[in-house]
Amino acid sequence: MGTVLKLYNTLTREKVDFKPIDADNVRLYVCGPTVYDFAHIGNARPVIVFDVLFRLLRHVYGEAHVTYARNITDVDDKINARALRDFPGLPLNEAIRAVTEKTETQFLEDAKALGSLEPTIQPRATDNIAQMVEIIEKLIAKGHAYQAEGEVLFDTKSMADYGQLSKRNLDEQQAGARIAVDAHKKSPGDFVLWKLSDENEPGWESPWGRGRPGWHIECSAMSGRYLGDVFDIHGGGLDLIFPHHENEIAQSRCAHGTDVMANVWMHNGFLQLEGRKMSKSEGNFVTIYELLHTEKFGGRKWPGEVLRLAMLMTHYREPIDFSVKRLEEAERLLAKWPAAEPSTVAPDATVLAALADDLNTVAAVQAIHALAQAANADPAQLPAFAASAALLGVLPVKAEVDEAVAEAVDALVQMRLEMLKAKNFAEADKIRNDLAAKGIQLKDGKDAATGERVTTWELKR
Ligand code: AMP
Ligand code: ZN
Repeated sequence: MGTVLKLYNTLTREKVDFKPIDADNVRLYVCGPTVYDFAHIGNARPVIVFDVLFRLLRHVYGEAHVTYARNITDVDDKINARALRDFPGLPLNEAIRAVTEKTETQFLEDAKALGSLEPTIQPRATDNIAQMVEIIEKLIAKGHAYQAEGEVLFDTKSMADYGQLSKRNLDEQQAGARIAVDAHKKSPGDFVLWKLSDENEPGWESPWGRGRPGWHIECSAMSGRYLGDVFDIHGGGLDLIFPHHENEIAQSRCAHGTDVMANVWMHNGFLQLEGRKMSKSEGNFVTIYELLHTEKFGGRKWPGEVLRLAMLMTHYREPIDFSVKRLEEAERLLAKWPAAEPSTVAPDATVLAALADDLNTVAAVQAIHALAQAANADPAQLPAFAASAALLGVLPVKAEVDEAVAEAVDALVQMRLEMLKAKNFAEADKIRNDLAAKGIQLKDGKDAATGERVTTWELKR
């Protein structure tokens, strides 16, 4: 232990010394994906950022003393729409399951390919409906929720300090609200806890009839069930501060009668693609799957560790511009890092200090690069490099190559040399990039005696 983490808390808008409620069980909750479509590279940001936090907490408090819950939102009207579109022949519940299972499986594969550890718990919303109903019942009993036109709504005016996280006050919201649409609400900011389903919509029995939960109530139910009424850190992307996190706080605090829901609220900044907002309709959009497995972005596949390092080369609270140039930069850096066995020595103090300062991954990457150079010069330094790189989850692992693969790579390397001689640079680059996507790094040099170009290669993972 000994290391004190400083974390920026959105709730107080300042960096605070992190003090866990119980150092034997540090508890972190992060809002996970809504599983209706493949995750895009923006969705990868919280996955990677909070994985670094998870690794850091495990290092400081011990692996067995951190509980990380990241939920799967598998009930949502977007999922229903997708199920009807993609599986029109199936009964709705089966169509929904087909959509959510496929998307969830892909998300878990993506997260793994990005070098992220599995969270301790990955609860699904549909496995926690009873817990949601229980919270809603409490809210009604305590006068914080009411029924209107087939919905149960949270009464925002019933909570004196509603809006603390986003620093919005209710009167501001009132002014801009579309009153006509929301005529059944007591105040425009009131939000849905439960809504009745018609027979063509998924639904669960409840005291208010067959229906389905609103979005925010899921996270109150799952964090409460797995981490307790008050826990240490709650994370997600900046866009979730309002309304999602504000409303999670309102539900949990009012149901449980607590002053806070989580002590520290952390939010990652937004990701843009090639300098523009990511938008499907404008075609400026790429999924994690496409980056890893297709040639959609920059005309080639990208290894997961390159995507991860590229993400960590910007501080998590800053906006990030994801571009081919940035990925190439990350790849060049990673190519200079030695492959190493996982190590049990302590990570370097500079790296640890950087991460402990509100996850300064930019400084950590610089320090790791210096360690890599030291290890390249002196193999005795490899364990310190390996332990430090592992804290960031970007350790290039030494891999064995079987003979058939080695022959195939040799042949491709030879073919590339011929392409270079023929000045067919496009083809030569394509071979190099294809190999890089498989974790094979080429190194060009000159034969000392003949002066001819020679290329060696190495499998990085
Ligand atoms: P969603 O499935 O839209 O609820 O998003 C899942 C997670 O990804 C949330 O934590 C969002 O805040 C985050 N997220 C979505 N889009 C972006 C983006 N462009 N940049 C960074 N984070 C994002
Ligand atoms: Zn949430």
